[in-house]
Amino acid sequence: MSRWAWAEIDHDAIRHNVEVLRRSVAPSAVWAVVKADGYGHGAIDVARSALDAGAEGLCVALVDEGVELRRAEIRAPILLLSEQPVADAARIVEHGLTPTVYTRPYIEALAALDVDGLDGLDVHLKVDTGMGRVGVAPPDALELAEIIVRHGPRLRLAGVATHLASADDVADPATAAQLAAFAAVLATLPATPVVHAANSAGGLAHPHARYSFVRAGIAIYGISPGHGVDHLCRDLRPVLSLRARVSFLKRVEAGTRISYGLRHTFVTPTTVATIPIGYADGVPRRLFETGGEVLVGGRRRPIVGVVTMDQLMVDVGDDPVAVGDEVVLIGEQGGERVSAEEWADRLGTIGYEIVCGVSRRIARVPRRNIGD
Ligand SMILES: *Cc1c(COP(=O)(O)O)cnc(C)c1O
Repeated sequence: MSRWAWAEIDHDAIRHNVEVLRRSVAPSAVWAVVKADGYGHGAIDVARSALDAGAEGLCVALVDEGVELRRAEIRAPILLLSEQPVADAARIVEHGLTPTVYTRPYIEALAALDVDGLDGLDVHLKVDTGMGRVGVAPPDALELAEIIVRHGPRLRLAGVATHLASADDVADPATAAQLAAFAAVLATLPATPVVHAANSAGGLAHPHARYSFVRAGIAIYGISPGHGVDHLCRDLRPVLSLRARVSFLKRVEAGTRISYGLRHTFVTPTTVATIPIGYADGVPRRLFETGGEVLVGGRRRPIVGVVTMDQLMVDVGDDPVAVGDEVVLIGEQGGERVSAEEWADRLGTIGYEIVCGVSRRIARVPRRNIGD
């Protein structure tokens, strides 16, 4: 290993989480969402483990993300979750990706592609039932569906989809309203092989959202979509852990101040460990002022001073800590755990942003068969 900071990716946990989700949404299927490099976990390896555990398809945001999976010889269906630049449309066909569509110009552009192999491109029609991001408005859905059908057999209307805005807030009536709007649109559209609406929270908390399959992202990674559904995530296991080693140790006196701005002052003598991981690796600078802690020797220890670009400091008290000792920033050590959700709560964000923020500078180290 070329540096003393890395992320471990527990592939047993991915398989476990996919199995948990499959059981809880059956008879609906699970498609694994591996956009943004598998939420920072490594898309190719995550995709393989998820498919291995019975996920029936994959979802990505970008054409490049789909192509990366195809280059890794992954042959499962790959759904692009939103329309992409028309200039890239030929690559969708060349690599056997399934586009989501919701505008007439994009549908016409796909139908007009002069590419070998375009003799039946499956497309999924996305309806915006209330998320307000992308999708055809419900009153216009039938017209677009008819345009797709008219472009048969070059295009095939293979699916209809929507996306839920607040499925993790189980008390919010917006989800029921979205699902009712979706059902009303579906009743007007030609029948399609698949229909899908649910993200992780939708699949876990809203049985009526499950349809043919659940597009499960965050739950695959063992992270709760939000506190409103934490109780449905108890069987999930976190996949990513962020680890480093102590690179430097020193004693400090009472009154010593530390890090940029000298914003932390020690009130008693103590030992400070320097950890070679910083905000350029995805440890937010603000984690210091919001009470961030790491695990050293199985104990919670506070970050002291602002997190710098490449390094941060931790007060390890009078514990016998040595250079080279393992430090856990996210994950478990000695029965203690710091979760991505804990960081998210401290920072006023969601676990998604924490794991997606672990930068490319951090190697992803796969772990398998840990229990064996
Ligand atoms: C990212 C995304 C998902 C996955 O959401 P999770 O909350 O991570 O399960 C599902 N559907 C769409 C359209 C998305 O953009």
